[in-house]
Amino acid sequence: MSKSLQAIRGMNDILPEQTPLWRYFEGAVARLLDNYGYKQIRMPIVEFTELFKRSIGEVTDIVEKEMYTFEDRNGDSLTLRPEGTAACVRAVLEHGLTGGGQPQKLWYIGPMFRHERPQKGRYRQFHQIGLEVFNLDGPDIDAELIVLTWRLWGMLGIRDAVKLELNSLGTSESRGRYREALVEFLSGHLDKLDEDSQRRLKTNPLRVLDTKNAETQAVLVDAPKMADYLDDESRIHFEGLKARLDAAGIPYVINPKLVRGLDYYSKTVFEWVTDKLGAQGTVCAGGRYDGLVEQMGGKPTTGVGFAMGIERLILLLETLEQVPEEISRQVDVYFCAFGEAAELVALALSEKLRDQLPNLRLQVNAGAGSFKSQFKKADKSGALYALILGDDELAHQVVSFKPLRGQGEQQSIAFDALAAHLATCIVQG
Ligand code: ATP
Ligand code: MG
Repeated sequence: MSKSLQAIRGMNDILPEQTPLWRYFEGAVARLLDNYGYKQIRMPIVEFTELFKRSIGEVTDIVEKEMYTFEDRNGDSLTLRPEGTAACVRAVLEHGLTGGGQPQKLWYIGPMFRHERPQKGRYRQFHQIGLEVFNLDGPDIDAELIVLTWRLWGMLGIRDAVKLELNSLGTSESRGRYREALVEFLSGHLDKLDEDSQRRLKTNPLRVLDTKNAETQAVLVDAPKMADYLDDESRIHFEGLKARLDAAGIPYVINPKLVRGLDYYSKTVFEWVTDKLGAQGTVCAGGRYDGLVEQMGGKPTTGVGFAMGIERLILLLETLEQVPEEISRQVDVYFCAFGEAAELVALALSEKLRDQLPNLRLQVNAGAGSFKSQFKKADKSGALYALILGDDELAHQVVSFKPLRGQGEQQSIAFDALAAHLATCIVQG
């Protein structure tokens, strides 16, 4: 196929054989968030470029080199959203959702776009489910975000494969004091820092802490520790969070080098990581951003949130073989009809069945076909039962009901009794 007719590198089709798992995952998360009292919000995929520069930070990897930015026909600079928090804050401010200090617990789902090097678990269009909570400033809500993800991992059967890493970055004042101390220390060891770290020292010094370079890591052993610079407010907040995680029985490790890639975090930051996916091991990440709303022109409004990467979680479910068997079966009953007269009756009967059993997953054969070919299709559909309507059945006003997966004998059922019979065989979801 010519190149122009292929999908863009790093942007994937999600094929019919994959969508059942996506829907299972997305459905589980949506139900969970409903149950915890979170409300869904949907933002546009494109925003003014300025929004992301202002919120994410000019010197972050995302803004410096990963955004899909273009000029539209009016000459405005627009960007495909690389993450959801900025747009969510923009929407909340634009519609006054946090006016008067009102709390909001929101979630969203959708595609995000970053021009990164595509590899397993890293794509240029990927999908996130994100949560953002506004105007609740205590550690109780930080804990709730973590507790509900822990419950999700349990529901999905992947708890044993993920680990929670936690850190506190302090308030922007204490973070500023720490940043100064770190810059002073690292400036004395410039020659031993890798190239990236030398650059970050000037632009985003805290990011030096998560360098992968061994020599730089060796220098960091003696660097000032963030924990020693934490202000009392942040320390108490962090203790409150840890106490709640202990009370909920959620294991965690403190990672003093966890700083996250975005500028706007303060106090709590956390990541759920797995060692089952190679280098792309973070499946969910977030933290508190108490200064962001004000930075974006709103009244002081605290915020905390996270985003999980759907592709990585799907990969994890597949890797751990935690894909429930029943999700790929999308048909309960397959209706075979032979001849024009039978097809007409089958259509009318099917619609009546759908009225009576609104959750019935019924596939009616299309395209006619011989007995053999219709049965082949019935079997391939994954249906548990076939309904058969031919001349014989038509003459007696019955349908033959045939179990396809060895649950009993074929039997004749009167048209009128069909719905009641199906109701007893099929678990209505
Ligand atoms: P990473 O360190 O892996 O690049 P990040 O810190 O850039 O991640 P966030 O901006 O915090 O990621 O996004 C939250 C989650 O979204 C990540 O933990 C990950 O699961 C997922 N994610 C981020 N970038 C990608 C991508 N390019 N492809 C697939 N999933 C991604
Ligand atoms: Mg990244």
